[in-house]
Order: sequence, then C-alpha cells, then structure tokens
Amino acid sequence: MGVKKKPDYMKCGSCGRKIVRQRLRPSEIRKLPKSQRRPERPYPELCPTCMREKIKKSVREVVE
Ligand SMILES: [Zn+2]
Repeated sequence: MGVKKKPDYMKCGSCGRKIVRQRLRPSEIRKLPKSQRRPERPYPELCPTCMREKIKKSVREVVE
C-alpha cells in the first residue's frame, strides 16, 4: 500500500549511534512493568547509554 515508511531510527546526538525508536501503543505500554514506563524521556535525542550517563551526572549534581 503506498504508505511511505519513516525511518525507525535516529542518531544519538552524543555518540552518533543509531537509536531504534520504540513504537508502542498505549495498550502495550500499559502491559510494561513500571520501571519500563517512561512517559518523559529527558533526552530524546540521545541513545540509552548516553542518556544514562547524562542522568547520572545530573543526579550527582543534585545532592540531597
Ligand atoms: Zn549515544
């Protein structure tokens, strides 16, 4: 059917690795455990690895 496919991935803004986009329907997201439910990704342009690093750094800055 003449539907154009958009690329399923983008490049990480930090390391340039491919980021595969997860396309989940709300009904599928509901099935995921809480830890995997991330309504907001703080760094959508980064791969999970770089994102974790960034979060780690930002967490370290906020010492309670
Ligand atoms: Zn990266």
